[in-house]
Amino acid sequence: MDWRAACVLPNTLMTDTNLPLSKQCAYCKQYKPLTEFRRRTGKRSKGQSRRGACRECRKLREAGNAQMQLQVKGTPALKETKTSHTSTGSKGKTRPRAADPRRKAPQLRGPKPDPQDASALVPSAKGMILMRGHSDKGRRWHQEIDLELAVTLVKEHAAVVVNRRTIRRLYSNKDFRAYILTRDNYTCHFCGLYGDTIDHLLPRAKGGHTTPDNCVCACNLCNQSKADQYVEEFMGR
Ligand SMILES: [Zn+2]
Ligand SMILES: [Zn+2]
Repeated sequence: MDWRAACVLPNTLMTDTNLPLSKQCAYCKQYKPLTEFRRRTGKRSKGQSRRGACRECRKLREAGNAQMQLQVKGTPALKETKTSHTSTGSKGKTRPRAADPRRKAPQLRGPKPDPQDASALVPSAKGMILMRGHSDKGRRWHQEIDLELAVTLVKEHAAVVVNRRTIRRLYSNKDFRAYILTRDNYTCHFCGLYGDTIDHLLPRAKGGHTTPDNCVCACNLCNQSKADQYVEEFMGR
């Protein structure tokens, strides 16, 4: 193909309304039909924009990432997992030792854990769990949190276990507020009057978290007068 043909090619793929039917892959640089690009998800997408990598390149990149993760994890642990599944009876005798015998290889494989089962979580070497979620506007975020917080968030129904290393926060801030107020029927937990604020039963200042189990609907007055007190303190005032 000479340079003129190359320059003309993109135009031939436009409709008369100038809506592009094709898109150049950011990786292989080929023009491919839009259907070869995955739609962006989340509220920003408006069903229009497509991702930069074509399906083929995406697959290659994902395979590459998986390969890299395997290399990072190291082969001894993997071999061990395999043998422990296939060998019967002779457990412990024929198994090759892991690189560091004191550290048990985390059971990251196997069946998908129960989303509510916080005990399924296995922290990274640094003791961390990945938490992901989305903002009020649908933008995805993620951060590392320590295992203890992750367990609390799952137990108190603010998050679910995605896999042994990852939890997913169930509500954005706005969603959470709406969820609590609806759940409590806009009724103050303390005085029974109309309420539209969120109060922490165990105050955040005392280590409480923003979770369905630790939050209730409260009226303005109760919320402000309770402030950082324990519930018992506040109710027995
Ligand atoms: Zn491509
Ligand atoms: Zn009240």
